[in-house]
Amino acid sequence: MLVSATEMLQKAKAGHYAVGQFNINNLEWTKAILTAAQECNSPVILGVSEGAGKYMGGYKTIVGMVNGMIEELGITVPVATHLDHGSYDACLKCVEAGFSSIMFDGSHYPIEENIAKTTELVKIAHDNNMSIEAEVGAIGGEEDGVIGKGECADPDECKMIADLGIDFLAAGIGNIHGVYPDNWEGLSFETLDAIQQKTGDMPLVLHGGTGIPDDMIKKAITLGVAKINVNTECQIVFTEATRKYFEEGKDKVGKGFDPRKVLKPGYEAIIEKVKEKMELFGSVGKA
Ligand SMILES: [Zn+2]
Repeated sequence: MLVSATEMLQKAKAGHYAVGQFNINNLEWTKAILTAAQECNSPVILGVSEGAGKYMGGYKTIVGMVNGMIEELGITVPVATHLDHGSYDACLKCVEAGFSSIMFDGSHYPIEENIAKTTELVKIAHDNNMSIEAEVGAIGGEEDGVIGKGECADPDECKMIADLGIDFLAAGIGNIHGVYPDNWEGLSFETLDAIQQKTGDMPLVLHGGTGIPDDMIKKAITLGVAKINVNTECQIVFTEATRKYFEEGKDKVGKGFDPRKVLKPGYEAIIEKVKEKMELFGSVGKA
């Protein structure tokens, strides 16, 4: 059964570890991440972007697939399906589809409008036993052509949004989505520390987990980060493993053209990557 991410993240923050959000793109991705979580006895959050939601045939398709796997693969660790960077409308669709968690990304609105929309969605989410994440301070990404430092959130604005009753907060601390440029200046621990001082027990979320050095990840966890989003890194290892399969001509051997064989190395690469991250985040054995 799907659960909201509230309890798993409160426990993580109190226990000084982080739960990984791993974004899914298809059945193989979902099965790999759930399998890794079960083997690590770790709670897990399956992230779904609006684009991935459309790609997989809609949010209801995803809920059906994940619930089916939980039952038939015997997954007993806590699992949340979480809308990643949702618009207001997408949040409502995920409530209706039976997701257990949503992120409302109102970071591009003026703060007043972000507050108004977040307030409405907090009530809707909680009425449906779902958790809700909000964002302050846009997190840059490849499409924005970010060079060097990502944006840093204003700690006072973080406090205002945290007080709306959200369950966890994403705040920009110099992190960006996608692959980090060579001249990236690193995370701003000063900002993170100031945000944690203002927001207290609120679990904080670190987006753009790909390419942040391990020591920075560990330090961020000591400063209140309890959820770390990983997306690009799984895509990279999946594609590398798949490319290798073709480069080695395995598709030309026997029934190597069978899609289940073609997708297997990528599937296994995701399992390994997710396990590696769960070790790093400290969530192994915390289910
Ligand atoms: Zn993000």
